[in-house]
Amino acid sequence: MHNHDHDADAHSLIAEDPELSFYAKRAAAIEALLIEKGMVTADNIRRRIEIMDSRTPAVGAQVVAKAWVDPDFRTRLLANAKAAVAELDIEVESPNLVAVENTVGIHNVIVCTLCSCYPTVLLGASPGWYKSLEYRARVVVDARGVLREFGLELDEEVQVRVYDSTAEMRYIVIPQRPDGTEHMSEEELAALITRDSMIGVARARTPAGEMES
Ligand code: FE
Repeated sequence: MHNHDHDADAHSLIAEDPELSFYAKRAAAIEALLIEKGMVTADNIRRRIEIMDSRTPAVGAQVVAKAWVDPDFRTRLLANAKAAVAELDIEVESPNLVAVENTVGIHNVIVCTLCSCYPTVLLGASPGWYKSLEYRARVVVDARGVLREFGLELDEEVQVRVYDSTAEMRYIVIPQRPDGTEHMSEEELAALITRDSMIGVARARTPAGEMES
């Protein structure tokens, strides 16, 4: 590592911290340069981080819960998910978003075989396993086996469909609404809808709290 002659400002202090990883130092150095060159402001970056942090699976759960209780919304979501979520003021950056619905006979699961494309706006940051080479390689050849490892055993008659995401096309799974939830409010239903159920590696929770099997 070579030393720069920059003023000893806060950024160079971050970049010199021996506790930080190479990547953290590199990110801090790039951030400092972008600010110095006037390409971004510290405020832009802070705002961006706030937006990223506001994205959690609760956003996707809100969409699915609405689809469960509102048949017209469900129809619009299945027809054009990007337009349907825009009704809820959710802006999807990818050109296309497709919602795929689990039924008694069809189970959908999403992957990105090429890299790690993921509906971040609806589900927040992707889990580590989603980005793993193992998941990406195996789910397309043995979806049932991979789902079993997640604790999801599907009947033989259930057809499994695997959707391969791209930068252009993101997917979200609408899990099946569990039995015994007819009396529940949209908000109560949303609490049953987990991140994994919207990726398709799990079912929605049952009202009692345990996973339906
Ligand atoms: Fe990708």
